[in-house]
Amino acid sequence: MLNSTKKFLSTAIAAVLACAAFAVTATADSVGADGESYCNEIHNDCIDDYEVELINSGMITDESIAEFNKYIASLDDESAALILDDSELDLSMKMTTYWHPDNDNNGIAAYASKTLPLAEYPVGSYFSYDGKACTCHNYCSWSVPSGFSKERCYIPSQGISGNCKRYAYNATTQCMGFADYVFEQYNGVYRSSSNAVNKTLTSVTSTSIKNYANNYLKRGSHFRFLLNQTYTDANGNTQYVPHSIVITDVTANGISYYQANYGARCYVSTGSKTWAELASWIHSVTNAWTV
Ligand SMILES: [Zn+2]
Ligand SMILES: [Zn+2]
Repeated sequence: MLNSTKKFLSTAIAAVLACAAFAVTATADSVGADGESYCNEIHNDCIDDYEVELINSGMITDESIAEFNKYIASLDDESAALILDDSELDLSMKMTTYWHPDNDNNGIAAYASKTLPLAEYPVGSYFSYDGKACTCHNYCSWSVPSGFSKERCYIPSQGISGNCKRYAYNATTQCMGFADYVFEQYNGVYRSSSNAVNKTLTSVTSTSIKNYANNYLKRGSHFRFLLNQTYTDANGNTQYVPHSIVITDVTANGISYYQANYGARCYVSTGSKTWAELASWIHSVTNAWTV
């Protein structure tokens, strides 16, 4: 349960904390016996330093924080917690580009409506800098200090860029960076408040997820949720693992999708699940973005 103090303190510009050492959790990027892995969330503790940098560079402003706070305040506590506990999403939503995207008024870009999967990322490829499987997931971060490539993840312990591709516009990597990149390529606009569905789902059943998909998802949607898988965060708390996918189809029986980093090391894959399978796969829905 989220208390209101956390709800507002966590979004205040003044809440600047020191960057603590990473607490690497073995489960955050483990590859199971079935070969499945997922987005890591080990970098929560270093957001604050990066957030200060985004404030100093004007990427986060009092206005964008106010817009973010207004949105969070409009949610019930459980829904707000889904956003605030998802550090990568939380930060991308505090950026001015989320509320006022560069292409907000320019319509759909000429390159939009490419076919999915994208030709440059076929199934079996990697959403990585060198095109090979990443080995940095247990210690890399999507928060990149100045002086380092914004197109790649960053490895704080070594002070070097890592191998995960980073979608710089939204400051996202791995599953979310890939979904953001595919979203832009397919829809021709950035993932932003302009295309946010702003609907959570905290009780996922075959029926509720079917209704959610029919109401809010279509080909090209960025769908963000928590898996029914947990890891231990830097504070020792059990957290559900966030994941992002791009919807490729919604049928009478379920969905099909395109994703990275569910399979291993920024690995690109496709899949499909029935409503019942989704109900067991997904713990709760954080949001969706649909053009
Ligand atoms: Zn990677
Ligand atoms: Zn990495």
